[in-house]
Amino acid sequence: MRVYKQIDEIRRAVGNFKSQGKSIAFVPTMGALHDGHLALVRQAKARADIAIVSIFVNPTQFENPDDLAAYPRDVDADLVLLQAEGVDAVFTPTPDAMYPAGAETIVETTALANMLHGEVRPGHFRGVATVVTKFLNIVTPDIAVFGEKDYQQLQVIRTLARDLFLPVQIAGIPTVREADGLAMSSRNARLSPEDREAAVVLNRALDLADRMVAEGTTVETLGTALRDIIETERRASNVAIDIAAAETLAPLVGPIATPVALMISAQFGDVLLIDQRVTTP
Ligand code: AMP
Repeated sequence: MRVYKQIDEIRRAVGNFKSQGKSIAFVPTMGALHDGHLALVRQAKARADIAIVSIFVNPTQFENPDDLAAYPRDVDADLVLLQAEGVDAVFTPTPDAMYPAGAETIVETTALANMLHGEVRPGHFRGVATVVTKFLNIVTPDIAVFGEKDYQQLQVIRTLARDLFLPVQIAGIPTVREADGLAMSSRNARLSPEDREAAVVLNRALDLADRMVAEGTTVETLGTALRDIIETERRASNVAIDIAAAETLAPLVGPIATPVALMISAQFGDVLLIDQRVTTP
């Protein structure tokens, strides 16, 4: 496994792989890797000859500097995990390399970036879309693999790939969870033991939603039930619940008759956690 810091170096490596006729799968990450990321890496390995992973904590997707500073970083441990998975190349650029002086171009999925989670985190999805476009242009993979856990992000990336005619297939992978159901996240390490226990309420709420949708319910009844269950956990604050059309994330009202994306977020201490599920009536 080779580790590349410079854009021209990874481009050369990619060129070599391609000249050997090899297909390339790419997994962008912000590091602090856990089993959720490794599930993406295994998919990448299964779907192409060469697996490339990037580790880059992207400053432009953090609207809060404290959140950026607090983001966990452990590249040495990450590289050990990636080596064990048989990854071929890792790209670890610096912020200056990705955003050189004078860089002024942004990529924004105009509607999708500013609804739902994007309303709570202004600029977040613009930062994601911009950096992912840069990565796709540098690595030029055949397939890029993302987690369904960040469902709105996945839809943003699918949309920008479609709209910009990027020659890449975007794959979404189901959320990997801890034994008690909490979605794996690099942020979980920052939870106090009490908040860690409390955060399981997010998955409990989604389990309830699955049952309610299967039995037949309305958007309004479901929204109230989800809020009730999350708010019974007094350690949860800033609870946000979105129930949207699975494909477009358009708002829904009334009886649920088509696949819905349930996207929830809540803060535990100073850690904002998100979880999601796509469910079909
Ligand atoms: P991040 O490093 O948090 O930016 O995540 C990198 C990629 O891993 C994104 O595509 C995430 O959606 C995905 N990911 C993060 N956590 C999980 C998880 N628990 N299960 C599956 N994919 C995940």
